[in-house]
Amino acid sequence: MFTAVVFGAFGLIVGSFLNVLIIRWGTRSLAGRSACMSCGRTIPWHDLVPVLSWILLGGKCRLCGSPISLQYILVEAGTGLLFFIIGLAPLPLYAHLFALPIAAILLAIAVYDLKHTLIPDAWVYVFAAFSLVVSLTAASSDMLYGVLTILLAGPVVAAPLFAFWFFSKGAWMGFGDVKLALGMGWLLGAGDGMFALFFAFMLGALVSVPLLFFSSPVWVRIQRAITPNRSSQRFMFGFTMKSEIPFGPFLVAATLIVWISSMHGFAPIDLIV
Ligand SMILES: [Zn+2]
Repeated sequence: MFTAVVFGAFGLIVGSFLNVLIIRWGTRSLAGRSACMSCGRTIPWHDLVPVLSWILLGGKCRLCGSPISLQYILVEAGTGLLFFIIGLAPLPLYAHLFALPIAAILLAIAVYDLKHTLIPDAWVYVFAAFSLVVSLTAASSDMLYGVLTILLAGPVVAAPLFAFWFFSKGAWMGFGDVKLALGMGWLLGAGDGMFALFFAFMLGALVSVPLLFFSSPVWVRIQRAITPNRSSQRFMFGFTMKSEIPFGPFLVAATLIVWISSMHGFAPIDLIV
C-alpha cells in the first residue's frame, strides 16, 4: 500500500509533465516555464501543483481568468491513478519500474490521438521497444521457444489492423494504430493482445455508433420532427458522418484494462472464453 501511494504521488508529477509533452510536442521546446495559453504570462510555481492547483483556481487562469483545459487535471489524475493501481500489483520492483513508463506513454498516446487524430511515431516506438524488452526479460525457461513466441506476438496482433489500413487505403485505420498494435502484442502476448484488439473494437463501437447516430441525417430529421420551429439545427458535439474518430484511445483503454488486470492476476479473456 505504501508503494502504491508513493507511485500515485509520483504519477501526479509525471502527469503534469505528460501535459507539457502533449501540448508542446512538435510545436515548442519542452524546456522553459509554463505560460497561460490565453494571456501568455508565466504561471507562478504555486499554480502548477498537480490536480490541486486546477481545483483551487476553479479551472481558470489566476492572471486573466481564462478557462484552463480540463486536459490538465484529467491527465494528472489519470496518471496518478494508473501508477497507484500498478503500485498495488504484486510485482517485483524491476517489473514495476518498467510498467510505469509504459503506462505513462500509453496515456500520452491516447490523449494526443484524441486531440490531433495522430500518434507521434517516436512515442509509439518507445512503447513498442519497452514492451518488447519487458516481455523478453520475463521470457519463459524454454528460451528459444519463449523468445520466438514473444517476437511473433507483435506482428500477429498488428496484422488485422494492417489489413484494415491496407485495404481501406488508410480510411478506416491510421498506420499509427498498426504500430500501436505491434507494441500491444509485445506487451500482452498474442492471446491477450488479440483479446485487447477485440475489446478495443467493442469500446469503439459503443462510443462511435451513438456519436455517428446523433450527428446523422436521421437524427437531424428526428430533431426537426420534435422541434419543428427551431430554425437552425446544430449537429450534436460537432460530429458529422465524416468526422474522424481516433481509434488510438480505444486501443490504449483496452490495453490498459487487459494489462493491469493480468498484473493483478485477473484475466478478462476468461470472462468470454
Ligand atoms: Zn491567463
